[in-house]
Amino acid sequence: MSEARKRTRVDNMNKVDHLLEHRFETLSLEEKLEVKRLGPHHPRDIAISQTAGKNNRAFNVEWFAKKKWLTASIQKKALFCFPCLLFGGSGGEVTWSRTGYKDLKHLSERITKHESSNSHLDNAVKLGLFGWVNVAVQIGSAYRRGIDEHNRQVEENRTLPRAVFRYPYFHEYT
Ligand SMILES: [Zn+2]
Repeated sequence: MSEARKRTRVDNMNKVDHLLEHRFETLSLEEKLEVKRLGPHHPRDIAISQTAGKNNRAFNVEWFAKKKWLTASIQKKALFCFPCLLFGGSGGEVTWSRTGYKDLKHLSERITKHESSNSHLDNAVKLGLFGWVNVAVQIGSAYRRGIDEHNRQVEENRTLPRAVFRYPYFHEYT
């Protein structure tokens, strides 16, 4: 592969249209790490609009600054969730991981609903943890004591301890 072609490929790797065609789970470890490093693609010139009666709504790109997990497909003219696109599989909220979200009228409430869903939180944690060799070893003993303390207070039974959200690193996409 030529250098120019390779460069184009790397530049495209975090884009929704590319990731819908080349599923994250099929990529090499090196490619996955590169997708994570690049983070969600935020196309400034994305044209998503919705006409309802006389009202014409257009997507405001300032949402990208407010919600780091938000990304968009230029081809589909639809919004997606980056961690759910990568780790969503066929379960969870497929609108945000497979088909794309277009209803601008209810955007604010749907964003709130999505980011508090269990599937989103799990996928955000998976992305946060991805590439870590051994989290337990890397987390300092002081922090582990914090987790133990927190876990005593948390009664919800989740796959991953909720305490993990206390560490700033994992707040990136939640
Ligand atoms: Zn999500």
